[in-house]
Amino acid sequence: MSILIKNGKIITASDTYAADIHIEGETIHSIGKNLEVQADHAIDASGKVVLPGGIDPHVHLDMPFMGTFSSDTHETGTLAALHGGTTMVIDFILQTQGKSLYHALETWQGRATGNTFGDYSFHMAVTDFNENTRKEIVEMIEKEGITSFKTFMAYKGALMIDDGQMVDLMQEVKDRGGMVTVHATNGDMIDKLIAKHRSEGRLSPLYHYLSQPEITEEEASGRFVDMAYYTDVPAYIVHLTCEGAMNQVRRATQRNQKVFVETCIQYLLLDASLYEKDFEGAKWVMSPPLRQKKDQETLWAGINQGLVQVVATDHCPFRGEQKLMGRDDFSKIPNGHPAIEHRMELLWSEGVVKQRISPNKYVEVTATNPAKIFGMYPKKGCIAVGSDADLIILDPEEEHTLSSQTHHMNVDYSAYEGWKVVGKCKTVLLRGKVAIHDGKVLIEKGCGKFVKRGKVSKVI
Ligand SMILES: [Zn+2]
Repeated sequence: MSILIKNGKIITASDTYAADIHIEGETIHSIGKNLEVQADHAIDASGKVVLPGGIDPHVHLDMPFMGTFSSDTHETGTLAALHGGTTMVIDFILQTQGKSLYHALETWQGRATGNTFGDYSFHMAVTDFNENTRKEIVEMIEKEGITSFKTFMAYKGALMIDDGQMVDLMQEVKDRGGMVTVHATNGDMIDKLIAKHRSEGRLSPLYHYLSQPEITEEEASGRFVDMAYYTDVPAYIVHLTCEGAMNQVRRATQRNQKVFVETCIQYLLLDASLYEKDFEGAKWVMSPPLRQKKDQETLWAGINQGLVQVVATDHCPFRGEQKLMGRDDFSKIPNGHPAIEHRMELLWSEGVVKQRISPNKYVEVTATNPAKIFGMYPKKGCIAVGSDADLIILDPEEEHTLSSQTHHMNVDYSAYEGWKVVGKCKTVLLRGKVAIHDGKVLIEKGCGKFVKRGKVSKVI
């Protein structure tokens, strides 16, 4: 099967130019002006832009959490992602404390294998670092193609590791060529504040926000980057939200340390005033919580300064009835919000159309950098000869409105209900197949493949 995409404007992380793209099988065969090739199928992209398919390196599909499961499965989540131009996701495996990494890997494979529409990979969350775990790290990297290891500095008793385990893990991962990523918030401080607010009868969603003040993230981010400096491990902070944490990273980069930062679309666009809406605020209960307007400006600036390399989602949806578990107590509201489908179009509209970032920067933070940082470049994340033909053909001017009535995520509310967005994904290709066209799904469940990742890339 061959496809010729004609007359589009190609945007990459470095260039913008008009050219045709010829795809043979799963990969890009050639790129050029007025290509004279016979293809099985031609797509006219006049007036549209052609972008690398989005890579969302932070999603939680079908994940057990707080006594329930996130409501998008690998099937519904990757399909919703494709509708919005994200052709690949990296999902998180959670080790159960007291059990092995392989036990967790098999559990996640059981849920994901054969069930995805789009391509996927896994990060391994290490919640119990011991001598057995140490032996498994090398197997994850060398045999399974899982090269990034997530840690939690919060959720004591379930997910959190202490600083001693953190340093040991960092040393092992450094020696094996991997990367350590982190949820950087001070768990002990947060637990203390949650207990205080509950004992005082302050139980509305607003107190979720007030239990995780900026300093809890700033302190943990600083501690994490210092431990990463000490061990010389490549390090990545997930869902960074605020100015204080950003300043810790800025300090670290001055000593030429390899620290990467991800923020998420919601932290760029939404703020903590949403928690003042009584229980409706539960829709945006996530950790870290939404912050203030001044933090949004810091994050946009961080993107433009190259301090923030990735915009992800931390997609972790829960339906209305699941959020109701915390009706009378904010600490029982399942944490997370739905965004896997909207990241690409929201960032185009709010970032590129509103001229906060360039179109090339957009490609960099949504596709190219995630591919480079997580060992998939140039197979993924770029438009180049030989790369996988994961592409979006986007109408940069079409307006539409986001709503739970029309989205494809398995959740009965939208965190962006009524948002008017400029720019729409018209056609999405996954490894040379048209997956979505004008809202219609043209591939089947099981088309998504597990992507084995390489050791930490030296290209960024
Ligand atoms: Zn997460």
